[in-house]
Amino acid sequence: MPLLVMKFGGTSVATLDRIARASKRVAREVANGYDVIVVVSAMAGKTNELVGWVEETSPMYDAREYDAVVASGEIVTAGLMALRLQEMDVPARSWQGWQVPLKTNSAHSSARIEDIGTDAINAKFDEGFKVAVVAGFQGISPEGRVTTLGRGGSDTTAVAFAAAFGAERCDIYTDVDGVYTTDPRIEDKARKLDKIAFEEMLELASLGAKVLQTRSVELAMRFKVKLRVLSSFEEYDPNAGTLVCDEEEIVEQNAVSGVAYSRDEAKMTLISVADRPGIASAIFTPLSEAGVNVDMIVQNISEEGRTDMTFSCPVGQVARAEKALTAAKEKGDINFRELVADEDVAKVSVVGIGMRSHAGIAARMFSVLANEGINIKVITTSEIKISVLVDRKYMELAVQSLHDAFDLDKV
Ligand code: ADP
Ligand code: ASP
Ligand code: MG
Repeated sequence: MPLLVMKFGGTSVATLDRIARASKRVAREVANGYDVIVVVSAMAGKTNELVGWVEETSPMYDAREYDAVVASGEIVTAGLMALRLQEMDVPARSWQGWQVPLKTNSAHSSARIEDIGTDAINAKFDEGFKVAVVAGFQGISPEGRVTTLGRGGSDTTAVAFAAAFGAERCDIYTDVDGVYTTDPRIEDKARKLDKIAFEEMLELASLGAKVLQTRSVELAMRFKVKLRVLSSFEEYDPNAGTLVCDEEEIVEQNAVSGVAYSRDEAKMTLISVADRPGIASAIFTPLSEAGVNVDMIVQNISEEGRTDMTFSCPVGQVARAEKALTAAKEKGDINFRELVADEDVAKVSVVGIGMRSHAGIAARMFSVLANEGINIKVITTSEIKISVLVDRKYMELAVQSLHDAFDLDKV
């Protein structure tokens, strides 16, 4: 029997009515002759509420218990969806991560999938069940504890199941009808893309476009999963949405294909550190050991053997970074005069595989921002992306003016 994976995000299962609506889509695919693995998220807002409860109860929480609590949202929707399908005479069974089992490593709250057992679900399909409703976002560690895959992780669950079961396609149903040139919520003129290359999607996701979790795109690319993003609110159309595919399948290619942003960034500067071999390692090793995700790094010009070192990280990790660097200073591993945190910055990036063959994109980006009076605080580039850090209050203006300047609203 051909098999499909259908993933429904939080807004698509936010109420019992929406669960019923999503179930109808699943039933249609069953009627079309498919066995279906449905991956569900928690109801919209539920995971945030659960995280809030954990933080209120225990600010320095034990990550194992955080996972035990936040994984529960998906368990509810999986059970409800299975019940709704049964009410529609579609034989369905729900699956929590550990029951599958979806095995992960022990990195609680951002665990990586190591293996997915296919026997138990396949045995149920052989018994005549048509749908397996899997609770997304969760797995089980080698120690037998519940783990979660990081925020947005149900996308990754879905792609991993599509790879493990050899699904014909993995459909990600969400609250927008595809992948756009930028977030349609902050740029009205954003244009839906019919196709986007894996590599571009990977950059957009890792630079903040939350429509797909980065890891899900990595897995789809590696295991050649046919991945589609589409709306759960629109009428059924077999050609709807955006297909994430190989570069070769895309005919038209602009230099820039999309603009991404990440709102909650911070810029930290160590003022006057000794400019000596090993200093970068002395700074960034304790940060990495403290679990700080350092992104951009700039070392300023050195004067009289001293220099300033600037890096960016998520704003939620500033306190952790300060603690790690202060401890390293107290131990005598590093010596700086001052540590300055700017917590009001955002990252804006332009992405496109066309950049490989078009020169001058960076210069163009900088002049667009200059014309808007937006000061650039840090810059990083790679082969297919350019990112800048700007004051958060200019983030939307930066996204909109770059979208305009690179004609992303036009085909
Ligand atoms: P779900 O709950 O279905 O997983 P998410 O909220 O995680 O949905 O992701 C969908 C959201 O991603 C959209 O509502 C949109 O605001 C945002 N988004 C950001 N960048 C893009 C983009 N380039 N294309 C489409 N959506 C985007
Ligand atoms: N419910 C989880 C979250 O909000 C996982 C997901 O929806 O993908 O992050
Ligand atoms: Mg999501």
